[in-house]
Amino acid sequence: MAKVKRISAVNVDDLSTWVKYRNGLCDDCNATCCTLPVEVRLSDLIRMELISEFEAEHESPKNISKNLMKQGVVEHFNFKTSVFTLTRMSNNDCLYLDRETRRCTIYEKRPKTCREHPKVGPRPNHCAYIQKK
Ligand code: SF4
Repeated sequence: MAKVKRISAVNVDDLSTWVKYRNGLCDDCNATCCTLPVEVRLSDLIRMELISEFEAEHESPKNISKNLMKQGVVEHFNFKTSVFTLTRMSNNDCLYLDRETRRCTIYEKRPKTCREHPKVGPRPNHCAYIQKK
């Protein structure tokens, strides 16, 4: 009997379903990577213009995280590693993702994590490609 080739569906939470990244894949993707938690550091926050260099040097990361949580741009801060996690919306979209265009609204200033994906990430050189509807 001939084998039927199955087209597997990507599940963003299941790394084994992620596809090998290739150029052009982002063009019609629903920006699934922008629904993953994004970890950022002080240098990212400066580039994103959420804090000044002065604040980064003189303010404690704990206080910075408090302020950014108040503003709603950070949802978590890891005291041990000084890593902040950007806020996600109720549907898991990053708060900087445009809901209609599915494009980053701060692309030029985006965090290092986003710049390096999918080269560096949960499954290097693979991504959770899901075609736009
Ligand atoms: S900052 Fe931009 S590129 Fe990074 S996850 Fe958010 S929308 Fe996507």
